[in-house]
Amino acid sequence: MKGRVIRSTGSWYTVKNVTTNEWVQCRMKGKFRLDGSTTTNPIAIGDFVDFEVEEGLDTALIVYIYPRNNYIVRQSSHRKYLRHIVAANIDQAILIVTFSKPRTSLGFIDRFILTAEMYHIPVVLVFNKQDAYKKKDIQKYERAKHIYESLGYTCLLTSATTGYGLDELKACMKDKTSLLAGHSGVGKSSLANCLDEKLHLATKVISRYTEKGQHTTTHAEIYDLPFGASIIDTPGIKEFGIVSIEPIEIGHYFVEMKALMGNCHFNDCLHINEKKCAVKDAIENGIVSEERYKNYVNIVNSIQDINYWERN
Ligand code: GDP
Ligand code: ZN
Repeated sequence: MKGRVIRSTGSWYTVKNVTTNEWVQCRMKGKFRLDGSTTTNPIAIGDFVDFEVEEGLDTALIVYIYPRNNYIVRQSSHRKYLRHIVAANIDQAILIVTFSKPRTSLGFIDRFILTAEMYHIPVVLVFNKQDAYKKKDIQKYERAKHIYESLGYTCLLTSATTGYGLDELKACMKDKTSLLAGHSGVGKSSLANCLDEKLHLATKVISRYTEKGQHTTTHAEIYDLPFGASIIDTPGIKEFGIVSIEPIEIGHYFVEMKALMGNCHFNDCLHINEKKCAVKDAIENGIVSEERYKNYVNIVNSIQDINYWERN
């Protein structure tokens, strides 16, 4: 039978049968972990698996893990050279953004998008607290929407307070597994509250997100929302920090640059100081947004600094 891993505690996995939606407690059959594997957990939250019910018991054995569409990792806290798979098969990462209290910078958005692109996860930007927008915030939103939607990232405007835009948000989440992210205070738990009328999820999410220090678990969990969507609750967004990357690779994850870089004169062009650079030409012609490019340069510089310190 086919199921999806929605929770794990030690060697037990809660698996949801994809046809009946029933939950079954599973262990893995034998050892999946192969020698030389660089991950600590062979089965991750979000994995689709085949399981066989154990004779005479109400538990089951996981016998097969389906190939993952994508997954996010963090470094193992015990053994640094190993990686822990936080969650797999994520349909979209929803970044909640606000313009004040707290302010989400465009730089942060572009870093987030870079990481999501590296993980092959589509990004949705949700601009929350719409009810509190002043005229200049509306202009900022319009500008951001123009930039990011032209790159293929859906932008939504919401208010957890008034309910503005929530139907659109629900429609965008339906039949998908979403990861909710954003700075503390942007309204993640308030929005989750609006999305789940039963509030079960909300209480959990609130405690996870706002009382960070009190939570010892580092495990992600998948929750089903009543309108046919799922969210992956991870303890904070640290897991979504920048994965190791070389400066030369960064442009590949800026979709507008990727499309242009084949025309740069140097094939190792960083699009910063090089001559005959197609990316820089495109900025001058207004084809690539200056804000995005500025954030790109900042990321390249910060990565060069990190890599320098790590190597020396
Ligand atoms: P989280 O840390 O991302 O989970 O953020 P919370 O949901 O705890 O919200 C932080 C603060 O912002 C709370 O005081 C909320 O009442 C407030 N808040 C959340 N959503 C909205 C909104 O849409 N409009 C306004 N005006 N305030 C909001
Ligand atoms: Zn270039």
